[in-house]
Amino acid sequence: MSNIDAFSRLCAQLSKLPGVGRKSAQRMAYYLLSQPGEQVEALAEAILQAKSTVHECRLCGNYTDHDLCSICADDRRDSSTLCVVRDPRDVSALERMRDYNGKYHVLHGAISPMEGIGPDDIRIKELLTRLDGVQEVILATNPDIEGEATAAYIARLLKSFPDLKVTRIAHGVPVGGDLEYTDEVTLSRALRGRTEV
Ligand SMILES: [Zn+2]
Repeated sequence: MSNIDAFSRLCAQLSKLPGVGRKSAQRMAYYLLSQPGEQVEALAEAILQAKSTVHECRLCGNYTDHDLCSICADDRRDSSTLCVVRDPRDVSALERMRDYNGKYHVLHGAISPMEGIGPDDIRIKELLTRLDGVQEVILATNPDIEGEATAAYIARLLKSFPDLKVTRIAHGVPVGGDLEYTDEVTLSRALRGRTEV
């Protein structure tokens, strides 16, 4: 395989990353080639190591390289409130606003009949095993079709726990929007303005 093939292969791999088009992939590839070998090795190693050591937290499903993530392991956080989100990325978004002191439950997906994703394909069963001592479940899935369907499904399931308060974040988050890309002020308002379902 000639060098040019290796270069194209690198560009092709980089352009698979989210938000990276063909042009930026090429720019990154040229940049990497201009860097000292150790620098490139450190990047490749960081990717491989993260991939091999980062896994889902045993309790909440957030990403961690320990048994429990730093949020589940933190005694100062309020275990009686669980905020249910789609992705670990949403945990990061909510943590950025520094306004929420409860714990999380990461579903790793949303119910989507179109894509053949049903309730059993995401971490809903795991949520039901965590409700001991929980007083409020905040449904913070995205306000898009899948997110709403998922929130409605979970809200129905949780009706059988009469003492449990179930809330849905307010629609400060733009409809069809992504929690991840919502600014902290809007997110904070959405969380504070949550309503019981
Ligand atoms: Zn956790």
